[in-house]
Amino acid sequence: MKTLPLTTKDFTWVKMTPAQMKKKADEYIVHKKKVYGEIKKILPENRTFLNTLYALERCDDSFESFFSKMGFLSEVSTKKEVRDAATEIATELSSKLVDIEYDRDLYISLVEYYEGNFADEKKTLRKEDIKLLEETLREYRRMGFDLPTEKQKRLKVLLKKTSTLSISFRKNINDYQDYILCTEEELAGLSPRFVATLPKHTDGRYIVSLQYPHIFPFLAEATNRKKREELSLKNLKKGGAKNLKIIEELVKLRHEIATILGYKHHADFRVETRMAKTAKAAEDFQNSLLKTLAPLAKEDVKILQAHAKTLDIKKLEHYDISFVATSLKKKLYDLDPETVRAYFPLEHVKKELFTLCENLFGIVIAEYSVPLWHKDAKMYQINDQDGTLVGYFTLDLFPREGKYGHACMVDVIVPHEHGYRTDEYIAPLASMICNFPTPTKKVPSLLSLSDVETLFHEFGHLLHMTLSRARLESQAGANVAWDFVETPSQIMENWVWDKEVMKKLSCHYETGKQMDDAMIERIIKGKTFQNAYFYTRQLIQGKLDLDLHTGKVKDARAAYRKMNKMYFNVELPEKETLFPAGFGHLVGYDAGYYSYLWALVYACDAFGSFKTKGNKNVMTNTEVGMKWRREVLEKGSSEDEIKLMKNFLGREPNQKAFLKEVIGK
Ligand SMILES: [Zn+2]
Repeated sequence: MKTLPLTTKDFTWVKMTPAQMKKKADEYIVHKKKVYGEIKKILPENRTFLNTLYALERCDDSFESFFSKMGFLSEVSTKKEVRDAATEIATELSSKLVDIEYDRDLYISLVEYYEGNFADEKKTLRKEDIKLLEETLREYRRMGFDLPTEKQKRLKVLLKKTSTLSISFRKNINDYQDYILCTEEELAGLSPRFVATLPKHTDGRYIVSLQYPHIFPFLAEATNRKKREELSLKNLKKGGAKNLKIIEELVKLRHEIATILGYKHHADFRVETRMAKTAKAAEDFQNSLLKTLAPLAKEDVKILQAHAKTLDIKKLEHYDISFVATSLKKKLYDLDPETVRAYFPLEHVKKELFTLCENLFGIVIAEYSVPLWHKDAKMYQINDQDGTLVGYFTLDLFPREGKYGHACMVDVIVPHEHGYRTDEYIAPLASMICNFPTPTKKVPSLLSLSDVETLFHEFGHLLHMTLSRARLESQAGANVAWDFVETPSQIMENWVWDKEVMKKLSCHYETGKQMDDAMIERIIKGKTFQNAYFYTRQLIQGKLDLDLHTGKVKDARAAYRKMNKMYFNVELPEKETLFPAGFGHLVGYDAGYYSYLWALVYACDAFGSFKTKGNKNVMTNTEVGMKWRREVLEKGSSEDEIKLMKNFLGREPNQKAFLKEVIGK
């Protein structure tokens, strides 16, 4: 397959005006309706894969990813009127699209083909074509289109209700504002840099809110125990009592929906389209990790209890954990984050990351000059080592007003074949958005260790999106099962923690020196610190999420307190603990919190192959790198993800590497 190159002309969209967007959005809707209409009109006996399913799959071709380009501009454009218009038009457009796509007649068209001409055509179709057909039909069935009219009506009512309640649940969390007030003395232990970011109340005291940039450092470093308790108790109430009612109602509604659709419970409904396939598989996965980690987590807590005594804390309470852990970590590993940061100038880390990926995955990365949306944004081209074009990506790495505030990857153009079974391939364009420290005239952008991990993580998504060779757009790049999508990104984080790689990544911005071995060793040793506690916490939240949606738990609040007592011997106050009222994942990630760890376990397992297979180290193991590229990154979801993993590993996946990586045993 020959990848079609992009030219400067293909980037005029970065200058799109609100009026042009509006015009194109209107044309898009008209076009979409027309294509849907044409598909529905075909007589059953004339239906083919091409005129029915493929026509649906490729419906947007003439719009050259307009929708995702506009969505992208809403995050990065330097012009407020463009960002606002893009957001507004995209929201409007997506609700119109739902109306068009929620079409029972279209489902009937697909069924006509499936029950008719498909039988004859099947032997000439490709595996991925058949997968697409079956999964598309399943999606429509999951919307209830094959149900009797009465049930469909009921379903619509329930879906509307859940959607309204979901919005309220999220809003109650986002709008939940609370804070404590502290005098200068009450901020003892916190860095002057942090204190300078705190707003002041009219009475002159400092405001410490429940927002992450406030609460995390405060609970980790403030020596004033009373104040930590005060803030912690407020945080336990996050979401408010009304969210407890909402979640109870949501769980009931979700259960009824799942039952109408023929599932045992909501968890089975949600997990069906993921790698785990059934709620039981997700539960088994969690339980087996919990069995190993829970006793180790208890040890972790005991270690904290012992250290707490040296800090004059007689009984370790929930508001002490982060503080005591931070203090112990400092004592054991003696690491000052600012000192570490000086060793990771962004430009150097980026250069080394590129070299690493070039070596491992057989690619060449070169800058490609084209005018983009801002001077900070840079474009790159990926080629194979023989010079053949593979794809493109952009990096937009520094904060600026109005830009998306976290780190993410956007697949602006998802690659696919240029027409059924042609030899031409539409080139991918993936865009990374990050917010690393802005360089100044004197000091370059210096990354913290977690920034370095973020860069590697997002670059993993980027490789998944750009190295794809899947033929169908809906199966290409990062269009994979939800509990697998973080595997190609999390695997990349492992390199950061390899001793040799970390050494190469480091280059002191003033002296140009690499980190010495002792420092690297201290950092790497610190990696597994309190990990059993950390992951057990994640597991009990995942368990709560699944138990709620399989019906095993009715009173989530009581269950959460009970698990904290059981696993950590930590007492959460009955009155104040409203968790899960503030557990945002219960909407959107419902029955899906397990996915983070699920994907991580696969990532660690796969990374193990780079260490053990072939006689090269993790930096130069091209043989395994190429296998990862060919068997996993290139395939997208054109085959089942579990099959990709087995093909890559040459065996069944397991949890051993994960346990070794995160706990060190
Ligand atoms: Zn990610």
